[in-house]
Amino acid sequence: MSQHAIGVDIGATNLKLALVDSGGVVRARAVSDTPKGSDPKAVVSGIIAATKAFHREAQASGVDVAGFGFGIPHFHEGQDWEQKQTNNMPSLEGYPMRPPLAEAFGPSIVMVNDVSAAGIAEHMFGRGRGIDRMMMVAIGTGVGTSLITREQGLVHFSWDSIGDAGMIIVDPLGQVDCTCGGRGCLEALVSGPAIRLRALREIERGRPTSLAEVQRAQGDIEARDVSEAAHVGDQVALDLMQETGNYLGIAFTSYLHIFRPNLLVLGGGVAQAGELLIEPARRTLARLASPWYLRRLEAIEVAALGKEAAAIGCASLILHPGRYLRAETDPQH
Ligand SMILES: [Zn+2]
Repeated sequence: MSQHAIGVDIGATNLKLALVDSGGVVRARAVSDTPKGSDPKAVVSGIIAATKAFHREAQASGVDVAGFGFGIPHFHEGQDWEQKQTNNMPSLEGYPMRPPLAEAFGPSIVMVNDVSAAGIAEHMFGRGRGIDRMMMVAIGTGVGTSLITREQGLVHFSWDSIGDAGMIIVDPLGQVDCTCGGRGCLEALVSGPAIRLRALREIERGRPTSLAEVQRAQGDIEARDVSEAAHVGDQVALDLMQETGNYLGIAFTSYLHIFRPNLLVLGGGVAQAGELLIEPARRTLARLASPWYLRRLEAIEVAALGKEAAAIGCASLILHPGRYLRAETDPQH
């Protein structure tokens, strides 16, 4: 009989819950607003209440839940899972989340960074199946990364990750401020908000573009509007996507040289632009990268699992213990 676990993807905006079986199939799902406020206790209580309600529904349908995996859009440290680098959920900074979660759900709980979780899910059930070294780059409101290898599972040497590799510098002149406090990071140039800002600047400059009409009609524009305009041949939008893909290619070159991936998987909303970003990224890689590393890279692909990847990955850590988080460094212990 298939086992089940609950994955809880704690985003800055949404709380996504998924009842997942050991084959990575989502059997039930729920989305709600992430509890907000300056009191971390209240935020965590809200997360616990939503998870308990979802658990009760699973139990009512006769499903036994083996445990709970929690994904966070930042990092955690130590036995009590003190929250770190909480750029998008500042009230949680330094808050120890394990004690209240253990009190509510017992000892079968685990917590990882959301892009680490999404990478695990992609390697287990998505694009990365059977791949020796897979790197995930999630591009949405921010940029997160993870590295999964067949030998080591989730590679983690800086908290539960390979560090803030989305903050690699791609603009050496540091002309653009980043949410992390640095300047010229990949995130500051390719995230959804970064694409929006660059598009607004182009509209201000007065270059003729359909994006100006979109802005007038909607009152604002999003990264998605830019990729849609590029798809139908808008030159300004095409230039913006080329530029974004070029920045990605600069970052990917360093990732290749440092992490030696066979596969780059692109997740997050911005990655849905697909070849519009991947084609210029490939060209930049071909221009900059060491052929020795470039030869090892088999493909750059858009993630297969979409928005539920992190929740699936979190649940899978419960259902496949030791496979991706090795026991000696397992944050459960
Ligand atoms: Zn940054």
